[in-house]
Amino acid sequence: MSDLNNNIYILINKETTAGGTRSPKTGGSAGVSLGNTGINVSKLSKWQLLRIVQDMLAETNYGVLDCQKSIGQVEIMRGSEGVFIGGIVTCRNVWLCPVCNLRISAERGEMIRQSQNKGFYMAMLTLTLQHNLSDPLDDLLGALKFATRELKTGGFWFRLKKEFGIKAYVTAYEITHGKNGWHPHVHMIIYFDGVPDLDALFQKLIDRWQHVVEKVGCYASKNHGLDLSKTDAEQGADYVTKFRGNLAYELTGQYNKGKTFWELVQQKKYKLVREYASATYRLKTLTWSHNAKKILGITEKIIDDQDAELLAVIPNKVWNVIRSHALQGFVLELAEIDQDALKIYLGQLSYDVENPG
Ligand SMILES: [Zn+2]
Repeated sequence: MSDLNNNIYILINKETTAGGTRSPKTGGSAGVSLGNTGINVSKLSKWQLLRIVQDMLAETNYGVLDCQKSIGQVEIMRGSEGVFIGGIVTCRNVWLCPVCNLRISAERGEMIRQSQNKGFYMAMLTLTLQHNLSDPLDDLLGALKFATRELKTGGFWFRLKKEFGIKAYVTAYEITHGKNGWHPHVHMIIYFDGVPDLDALFQKLIDRWQHVVEKVGCYASKNHGLDLSKTDAEQGADYVTKFRGNLAYELTGQYNKGKTFWELVQQKKYKLVREYASATYRLKTLTWSHNAKKILGITEKIIDDQDAELLAVIPNKVWNVIRSHALQGFVLELAEIDQDALKIYLGQLSYDVENPG
């Protein structure tokens, strides 16, 4: 085993603990043979999970395949929010990329939390369709999108908003897979001016929901097709972001409505993973109603890293090794706690890449 093999072997072992699923497949890069680093891990980092997604979707052209690739000079920087990696692609695909999902979900969660204590009553509406194992995800999503759009447009919705004092809403799609197949559904946080009669609202919504769902040839149950309950900004943010965003939460099996995409990825369900990737292409994850951010007094946080401090420059050949072995977490941790060790480590990796074998 070369120094690089040893180095990476030790690092991966250090990052993870024994037991559970195998680490992502580690392909050689930069002409360096990396030997057998397939060690057992109990918890994958978001970068390791991304590598598995990329392996599983290889030979497609989804943007997630480019995530983390170098675009010029890769730099480790310290900005106002801590250390980060500059000069790399971020694909921004919330459906397929765990790295981008976590970052974007955190931003969205933060925005929704800002709506707390703004004087609005908040309720969570969940919309579902009946489905079975043989229904293709694409068909179910198409029906759900159509029915949701129908629900939120036209005279019915206009009158409903007026009658119940609906001022704004945030709509998010979510997809899980369980014993009855794909389960796409919609979560909607609704903001009311005053305390609404939720029972009366539920009745109107379920009647309308059943009607629009039938229009697309599907069925929604009177008892389970729709859920409406009081919520707050914290819980609402969890619902529309954390279920998809928090890997630790999703990977520990606390989810009882079926498997998340990340679980399907870990279990190497190739067919389902590819079906999901195709069905979610260009699907928006979250939308705000007209002027919602203004009405709710929500501002987008702009991180200004103009004055970020440069901690290290990583040559492309070295970055390719870090990326293909999903060692970003380790590099960032070193940058955070011990920059001398970071320099030694990068120097060693660089030497090994230049002198394979
Ligand atoms: Zn990404």
